[in-house]
Amino acid sequence: MHPIDPIRIVLVGTQHPGNIGSAARAMKTMGLSRLVLVAPKRFPDPEAVTLSAGAEDILQQAQVVATLDEALTGCHFALGTTARDRNVALPEFSPSQAATDLVARSVQGDVALLFGRERTGLENDELQRCHGRVFIPCNPDYASLNLAAAVQVLSYEIRLKRLASGALQPKPVEGDEQAPASMDQMERLFSHLGEFMDEVDFHKGRSPEKVTQRLRRLFLRAGMDEREIKIVRGLLADTQRLLRQLK
Ligand code: SAH
Repeated sequence: MHPIDPIRIVLVGTQHPGNIGSAARAMKTMGLSRLVLVAPKRFPDPEAVTLSAGAEDILQQAQVVATLDEALTGCHFALGTTARDRNVALPEFSPSQAATDLVARSVQGDVALLFGRERTGLENDELQRCHGRVFIPCNPDYASLNLAAAVQVLSYEIRLKRLASGALQPKPVEGDEQAPASMDQMERLFSHLGEFMDEVDFHKGRSPEKVTQRLRRLFLRAGMDEREIKIVRGLLADTQRLLRQLK
């Protein structure tokens, strides 16, 4: 039995089962094995098996979930791939930088790489869950790769980084060092922040959208650990408690 790969390839809302099969094949050629499918339109499906061309084991082990939240449970880092620029403020990674970060961070725990729907890609709120976006530089007049081709490019970059770094072993968290915050802990921090901003009437009638995006970007960039999250949430909670006493 191989150990479970800490790098998850997450396909969101895939429409054609053939693409799931081709993606599994692309992954297997590059030594990746952990496929997560979020609400696929058709799966399992014989077309997926046909196009997986011998990577059926990856399809069989694939985890099928209903929501992106479930796909990201237990991860502490995620990147989303996009074929075009979106109105979402997120750091941009080249495929090579993305692979470097994913491989390096996977030593500390699970990480995820997200791919969107064939027709419409990832939605803005899905991208916003990520620490950054990855763009494969291609012909600007024809920038949209087939889903499985995009999986192939990124899987290859991950392969190169893994080969260059040797077999990286998960390193135990030592001494004062804390485990990185998981993405669910980050999401709970963001809902707490949202609640807090409403309570202090931070938005004053303006739309909360932009400032929320910026705060998400700031906290995701910080690479917080569990203790740091506890401190920030404790600060918010204490302030809320005092405010409620004043009211
Ligand atoms: N029209 C869609 C294209 C989706 S292609 C859009 O504009 O987003 C399906 C998926 O393949 C994308 O969601 C993305 O995950 C991946 N993909 C395709 N081309 C890509 C590129 N140039 N860079 C990064 N990812 C790409």
